[in-house]
Amino acid sequence: MDKIKLIQELLTEIGENIDREGLKKTPERFLKAFKEVNQGYGLVSTKFYQSTFKAENKEMVIVKDIDFYSLCEHHLLPFFGKIHIAYLPDKKVLGLSKFARIAEVFYRRLQMQERLNKQICEDIFDNLKPLGVMVVIEARHMCMSMRGVNKVNSKTMTIASCGVFEKDEKLRKEFLSILK
Ligand code: ZN
Repeated sequence: MDKIKLIQELLTEIGENIDREGLKKTPERFLKAFKEVNQGYGLVSTKFYQSTFKAENKEMVIVKDIDFYSLCEHHLLPFFGKIHIAYLPDKKVLGLSKFARIAEVFYRRLQMQERLNKQICEDIFDNLKPLGVMVVIEARHMCMSMRGVNKVNSKTMTIASCGVFEKDEKLRKEFLSILK
């Protein structure tokens, strides 16, 4: 079926009149926006790992408050919030701006918050090869706020860890305490 027709059918389904002025270009615009927010499928993270520097010490590096917007794969409704990343360098450190670009590869797709955590964590662990990585995500899910249980103010927090962060309670606590 024609893509525009498909979206027009959706609009008709909810009781809209697809011929009215305001909706004339809506299917095209929706399609464009939908592709844009899901452009992570066409992105790869590897190029972002090219700008590394020699690690001067082995102190934890924290990148806090990366804004993200994603779509939940169950309802195709937005979930959004902050991504916080900590890692313990081994030989290399990565330019700080690159973490937001790496996160984008994964959040601009249909996602589950838990998987988003894991994918970012493993990607950094595999490519940068630090001693450990931990990723904390706090998000609001529109599928909870706009519909269903209507829990408008609830936030979901998820954690993923790789390497030393999996077992080192002191490191985990240090990172989590900085986020408070
Ligand atoms: Zn959902």
